[in-house]
Amino acid sequence: MSREIVYLNGEFLPADQARISVFDRGFLFGDSVYEVIPYYRGVSFRLEQHLKRLGHSLAALRIPLALDWPGVLNELVALNGGGNLSVYLQVTRGDAGRRTPVYDDSMHPTCFACCNPIRDIYAAGPDGIEGIAVLVTADLRWHRCDIKANGLLPNILVLQQAREAGAQEALMIREGILTEGGSSNLFLVKCGVLYTPKLSSEILGGTTRELVLELAREAGIPYQETDLSYENLLDADEVWISSSTRAVVPVLEVDGRPVGAGVKGPLWRRMFELFSQFHHRLMTGEN
Ligand code: PLP
Repeated sequence: MSREIVYLNGEFLPADQARISVFDRGFLFGDSVYEVIPYYRGVSFRLEQHLKRLGHSLAALRIPLALDWPGVLNELVALNGGGNLSVYLQVTRGDAGRRTPVYDDSMHPTCFACCNPIRDIYAAGPDGIEGIAVLVTADLRWHRCDIKANGLLPNILVLQQAREAGAQEALMIREGILTEGGSSNLFLVKCGVLYTPKLSSEILGGTTRELVLELAREAGIPYQETDLSYENLLDADEVWISSSTRAVVPVLEVDGRPVGAGVKGPLWRRMFELFSQFHHRLMTGEN
């Protein structure tokens, strides 16, 4: 019996006992949405923002759902020993009993959640964070990337392409405009100003992206949300990616060329420090 406990449709049970129907629309059509939320020492990081985005994704797909997600997730984390975990949650439109693209309003959503151990990046500190290399590649996704949907094949393919080229993330570009990473948002720094692609249906509104901008605003770091080109990327002093379980990660190489001086930049160090302070306030109950 597996010791890992998962949540499925109202029950907490060992992972190897959880079952869904082969006619579940999440399995057949990717008719589902998800979230990934970090917990540090059992405390959630930006849960409210993740649940707000989940609400946006569910509303976009017209999947009705009323569930006490905070209660479910906090219990799941406790059952898995607390600690440093990322919680994955997925809501599918449910089991239609047969394979048919059309649906009606009588369906009951399938709700699933599980945990994965994560590294405490804040304990690692800025010197413990490794810079990464990225590969720039075509954005082959649909035009509703603001929905955190499970149709992730384009993301998987570009991430695999990056890995096989010796890079750790793929940055995607559509009609000459950079969108985001395969599983992250993009930032670049030029002459002390922070730039990031503006929110649209071409990118996911990252919860970490939102926090970067919040912290930049509070700290008086100038920033702009704007269109960015490949040339802007090559010309940047610093490039970062952001995501929930990684916070902000410095990019040291783009398509084999060094970014700026090829080392972690001063503004990244400042932002990592701001994240660490935010995390500290959260852990001590000051936020
Ligand atoms: N963009 C994409 C395509 C993602 O998959 C993710 C996270 O998985 C992000 C951005 C970052 O979002 P967040 O900061 O909420 O983790």
